Amino acid sequence: MKKIKMLYEGKGKKLYSTEETSVLIAEFKDDLTAFNAQKKGKEIGKGELNCKISSFLFELLEKNGISTHYIQRLDEQNILCKEVKIIPIEVVARNVATGSLSKRLGIKEGSVLPFCLVEFYYKDDALGDPLINDEHCRILGITNSQEELEFLKSQAKKINLILKDFFDSKDLKLIDFKLEFGKDTKGNIILADEVSPDSCRFWDKNTNEKLDKDRFRQDLGDVKFAYEEVLRRIIT
Ligand code: UDP
Repeated sequence: MKKIKMLYEGKGKKLYSTEETSVLIAEFKDDLTAFNAQKKGKEIGKGELNCKISSFLFELLEKNGISTHYIQRLDEQNILCKEVKIIPIEVVARNVATGSLSKRLGIKEGSVLPFCLVEFYYKDDALGDPLINDEHCRILGITNSQEELEFLKSQAKKINLILKDFFDSKDLKLIDFKLEFGKDTKGNIILADEVSPDSCRFWDKNTNEKLDKDRFRQDLGDVKFAYEEVLRRIIT
């Protein structure tokens, strides 16, 4: 499968059309952004690592009954995926308080939450991706269907159970993560975007060392080492 035309360039990936209708190629970039792209950087090799990690995790989710846009990995930096219309909601699932949750509500960093908290953020860079609730989604015209919103929440919780158990077996704590869903050509809602250390937080089970994009956000150094370590653990 060949790239025909670049359709879209996002912060972490480029999307290309292919010879086949409704089948795209996603290329994972080395660019890193944080704080709504106010902080920018680049880490050579990060695209490859995220491509491999994300492909592995999409395959794991598919094996466990989650429908995703993932078709197959093409090479080091490219995957083949189904074309979807992205639903402009960032679905965040959290097991442990940190980041914006701790800041917003004063919940101590590292507190284990009593259950998996699912939140919606409106995917709009100009507004800084604000936190929204179900009624905001309806007023914004994102969806008129409460059932669709309930489906997003239940998928996020199912995905959390699958990933949390898997990462636990690799001595990693899945702290929180962000998902994006889209509608395929038949109108089915499927998981899209990526699942990688750019969109998830992983802490080492024994030391709580951060092994994700927080190393870039917080200038902790060894960004590539952390992503390599996540890949090494998941494939061994
Ligand atoms: N996240 C993401 N993209 C965003 C915002 C958040 O992938 O634009 C992920 C982030 O990596 C973390 C989770 O969503 O795993 C929750 O992030 P949080 O709301 O705490 O935001 P932050 O502290 O990054 O501002």
